[in-house]
Amino acid sequence: MEEWIPIGYLLSAALFIFGLKKLGHPRTAPRGNQYGALGMLVAVLTTVIKMEAAGDAKWTLIIAGLVVGSVIGIIMAIRVEMTGMPELVALFNGFGGAASALVALSESWKYIEDSTLTVPSGLEIQVIMIAAGLSALVGWMTLTGSLLAMFKLKGGIYIPFSKKDDRGRRKWLNTPTWGPAWLNPVKVLLVIAVFVLIYLSIDDPRNTDYLWAIVAIACILGIVLVLPIGGADMPVVVSLLNSLSGIAAAFTGFIVGNSVLIVAGSLVGASGLILTFIMCKAMNRTLPDVLFKSFGGSGEKAELTRTKVGSDADEVAMMVDGAQKVIIVPGYGMAVSQCQHQVKEFADLIAEKFGTEVKYAIHPVAGRMPGHMNVLLAEANVPYEQLIEMDEINPEFPDCDVAVIIGANDTTNPAARSGEGPLAGMPIIDADAARTVVIIKRSLSVGYAGVDNDLFYMDKTMMLFGDGKAMMTGLNNAIKEI
Ligand code: NDP
Repeated sequence: MEEWIPIGYLLSAALFIFGLKKLGHPRTAPRGNQYGALGMLVAVLTTVIKMEAAGDAKWTLIIAGLVVGSVIGIIMAIRVEMTGMPELVALFNGFGGAASALVALSESWKYIEDSTLTVPSGLEIQVIMIAAGLSALVGWMTLTGSLLAMFKLKGGIYIPFSKKDDRGRRKWLNTPTWGPAWLNPVKVLLVIAVFVLIYLSIDDPRNTDYLWAIVAIACILGIVLVLPIGGADMPVVVSLLNSLSGIAAAFTGFIVGNSVLIVAGSLVGASGLILTFIMCKAMNRTLPDVLFKSFGGSGEKAELTRTKVGSDADEVAMMVDGAQKVIIVPGYGMAVSQCQHQVKEFADLIAEKFGTEVKYAIHPVAGRMPGHMNVLLAEANVPYEQLIEMDEINPEFPDCDVAVIIGANDTTNPAARSGEGPLAGMPIIDADAARTVVIIKRSLSVGYAGVDNDLFYMDKTMMLFGDGKAMMTGLNNAIKEI
């Protein structure tokens, strides 16, 4: 039986790597996910076999955890709405970090309590304590940071037992975006304090005060790191926290001497970091700017003073009738209204009826998670070759007759070019360069970053006010009647 243990771990590591490879394309991503889940199952079962072979009957606890965790995971995955996915991902990141930190804590505790225990693979207790300190720093910071990120994405923390409004929802406590300049030296000092504590624990490895102090500081660090980040910078922080949860797992793998945990943690850490840098590049930010400059703004929403008369579906249908080239720009509102199927129907209708060339402009941070628009449009069977990345599609807008913006706001907001405000410097979809712009959303209200959008008030812009699904259905009916 024992000879199967390294093979089991090798198999699960291989499954993680193949899974990651398959996540690189929307078409193969579901298979990648399944490979990853299978890899995790193989790793857990191998650990159970390893414990049984060593005569450790506590593996039953692991099986119980597997069953309970799977049931909770399945229920959450079934119940979550597509628009709630980013919050769920943030929550899972936090739990991942906390799980790693807890395992590291309990493992190092064994050696602290019992000085006769031999540390695995010839490591010194000091090495274990350094790894435990690092795991505690990253793991607890990831937990508190991710929880705050989750509440920020959700729009606040709801107050239990508060009076329900007429839609049956309880009151929300806003999660503030707050980061005065003096907070930056505080963050640096907190990180230095953790490293000093880890250093001190080398001389006195069995003194638990150091470990508890690290846990406390790491929890505060997670909050002060995420608190100032708001507006357009949230995608970067969610991705960074994902990476940190992997790094915490890798440190823990080192402490428990589990190679597959080191491999899996390093994969998550490295891929999360790569994604973070891709997001930073897409947002025209550097990571230090995101973490220390509070670019994302105060979290306050701009007050709206201007008005605009809305158009109707028939007017827009007539406009599209004469168009040779239409570019669809989807955003978060498409995810909220779940109108991707109606959007696809619209694209098919105008291509078939009027011979219009249709493309989709995909902004890297449209929606609320990386790849959000790709996932939704893939679900509606939009051909991948029609989904064009921002840098590639932007030069095509001056030749585009109608840009149809569905529930996108920040990612098309020309204010980003001004160099000021929460969106400053973020590259946008150049929809304002199209000959006519049609915007489908419920009102003139601001997007995630809280900035008013000049595009709504341009002469060439037609606003189609209403829920995305209802408006797209109306537009499709109007086109069918032409
Ligand atoms: P925005 O969040 O800027 O705007 C979405 C718009 O959709 C709103 O203005 C809203 O207007 C409209 N909307 C909401 N519900 C509906 C509905 N049912 N029907 C029609 N319209 C609706 O969207 P973008 O995609 O342009 O930008 C994404 C923003 O989110 C960026 O600032 C990005 O940084 C941020 N972000 C992105 C993440 C990512 O990883 N992609 C993660 C976290 C944040 P109205 O209320 O008038 O209908």
